[in-house]
Amino acid sequence: MESFNSDLHIHSPHSIAVSKNLNLDTMVETCKKKGLDILGTGDVLQPNWLKYLEKNLIKENDGSLSYKGVYFILQTEIEDQESVHQVVFFPNFSSVRDVQKKISSYSKNILDEWGGRPRVNLSPAELVDIITDYGAIIGPAHAFTPFKAIFRQNKFKTLEECYQDATKKVSFLELGLSANTDLADRLDCLKHITFLSNSDAHSESPRSLGREFNRLTMENPSFEEVVLAIEGKSRRKVNLNVGLHPKLGKYYNMFCNKCRRRILFKKTAKQGNSLFNQYAISDEFIKIITNDPIKSKQEYIENVAKERMTCPACKEKFTKNVKIKLGVSERIEVISTSRVPIHPEHRPSYINAVPLIDIIRSVKNIKSASSTTVMNAYNNIIEKLGTEFDIILNVPIEDIKKYDERVGFVIEAIRQDKIEYTPGGGGTYGQIKLSI
Ligand SMILES: [Zn+2]
Ligand SMILES: [Zn+2]
Repeated sequence: MESFNSDLHIHSPHSIAVSKNLNLDTMVETCKKKGLDILGTGDVLQPNWLKYLEKNLIKENDGSLSYKGVYFILQTEIEDQESVHQVVFFPNFSSVRDVQKKISSYSKNILDEWGGRPRVNLSPAELVDIITDYGAIIGPAHAFTPFKAIFRQNKFKTLEECYQDATKKVSFLELGLSANTDLADRLDCLKHITFLSNSDAHSESPRSLGREFNRLTMENPSFEEVVLAIEGKSRRKVNLNVGLHPKLGKYYNMFCNKCRRRILFKKTAKQGNSLFNQYAISDEFIKIITNDPIKSKQEYIENVAKERMTCPACKEKFTKNVKIKLGVSERIEVISTSRVPIHPEHRPSYINAVPLIDIIRSVKNIKSASSTTVMNAYNNIIEKLGTEFDIILNVPIEDIKKYDERVGFVIEAIRQDKIEYTPGGGGTYGQIKLSI
């Protein structure tokens, strides 16, 4: 049995807001730097992308598909009638074509230039039935994000509510960038399902591709083996989830739906302050001043869940009240069945990670993610010390410090979970706080 680092959900240039440079060659280049063995193809139902993949992917003897040393799983994301995003993996090109044909009468955009993530007029259960009839597997994408996700505010609270009779045919749940196993295992209804941590990358940048991945134990990188690993059968399994620290995700913290400011709580010594009427408002944050942040936050979340809280920053600008929306962490607080995570026995460890590009940016104090200085430093450290995953997870800290002391200190702090984060929210990524 071997281990395969696998990022199983990405997109193609046929989805909106995707880098034009994303293609098999640029993907493979990044996979080699990161240490990724298997990648989802993204958008496989889109006709042009499908043709491109059919022309370029090579079928190996074990049934896997490869391109220049990296393996690919035929994958797409579909939006159903309930605006829930679902990730799908297909066994082969003919099943992709069959599903494309079958669902095209339910979709206005599947055959379009921009149909990378098609929307279909089918209920979640109907979609699951069709997908599994063709030998493909399916599960909810970025399950807790405030938009287009199964557990978003005012939507479903359990898998059964969403998939009804088809629940048993759902193979996995994708955590999304703002959640991890500790958060998701607070929901009793998820104890039997396998979690996947995928990047949902819209670009070939090493900051995006592989920022989340799963380590699969399997015989070979074929679809059949991936299914066994996801189902935990025949000693195949997902043996590790690695992903962004949830606070680094774009939707961890609650936010105003209009101005996108994140809501934080700030302690004051003054007594008797729980009416949420004292704020410090900046460009990015609304800090609620209170003498008991924990209790106030709890109360505030309950009110946001009932759609009672309006944005104090938007009050003057708009006549209609603008509501605050729950982030991933607060939505989980509302629908969780336990205050602490209860990990089932089959659950692998989850490592909270930070992309190496972001670590380099922080120590060099450079804002731009595409800065040449940062990219050069990234390529140099990889050339010297090994793949990004090796550097983040395995290379001895002393060796990293010898190469770059400050990068070594940050990776040490991340590995020991001693780093502080400014939480992301409302579409803005979180950040690491450095005190070195
Ligand atoms: Zn999505
Ligand atoms: Zn606002």
